[in-house]
Amino acid sequence: GRKFFVGGNWKCNGTSDEVKKIVTWLNEAEVPSEDDVEVVVSPPFVFLSLVKTLLRSDFAIAAQNCWVRKGGAFTGEISAEMLINLGIPWVILGHSERRLLLNETNEFVGDKVGYALTQGLKVIACVGETLEQRESGSTMAVVAAQTKSIAEHISNWSNVVLAYEPVWAIGTGKVATPAQAQEVHSELRKWLHENVGPEVAASTRIIYGGSVNGANCKELAAKPDVDGFLVGGASLKPEFIDIIKSST
Ligand code: 13P
Repeated sequence: GRKFFVGGNWKCNGTSDEVKKIVTWLNEAEVPSEDDVEVVVSPPFVFLSLVKTLLRSDFAIAAQNCWVRKGGAFTGEISAEMLINLGIPWVILGHSERRLLLNETNEFVGDKVGYALTQGLKVIACVGETLEQRESGSTMAVVAAQTKSIAEHISNWSNVVLAYEPVWAIGTGKVATPAQAQEVHSELRKWLHENVGPEVAASTRIIYGGSVNGANCKELAAKPDVDGFLVGGASLKPEFIDIIKSST
């Protein structure tokens, strides 16, 4: 089976005091065992060390991005090697906010995924269509093209989680219906089956992101191809605990 995966993407939020408060309620929470649910929180770079020092050991940490190659003269960037050196096991790559606001292309995202994996990072790779693309009927073509650019750089899928995050659902309160999420997730799994292989399709976690909260998570989690969540806004609040528990 695919272990349920719940990621909390804190995005560009928080002060050190707020971060300490979040870690306090995370550390006090009673949640299913790490054998049943994998929990990964993703603070901004500047708080990675603080969170690593304070956070319970059964929860893991992800960075929200990393540079495409070895470090060097790349002002403002953080390399995969630095994350490994700090003991950060995961990185989120290809988030739509970076694709759209920072012009990250499919090729660049794929290249980053490949490099991060070679350095030993585990990757949460994000795909998702805009509202315009959904309304024009190109959802599957868009997410398949994004997935293809990523898949070309992956030789071992065991360190990859695929996150389907429709752009129209991110930060809007307009969550995908369980049927809408299931439809794309099952198409993505079919894509993996046909283009990568049956084992990878069966074992790769495909998680949903976009306005997930404590109230809508259970119904989404019940869908057979929804293997977890990537949570933005609600990961900053104690209802994140309900989302961690949503598969049980
Ligand atoms: P929201 O949960 O705030 O909609 O954000 C989702 C997301 O982008 C997670 O990466």
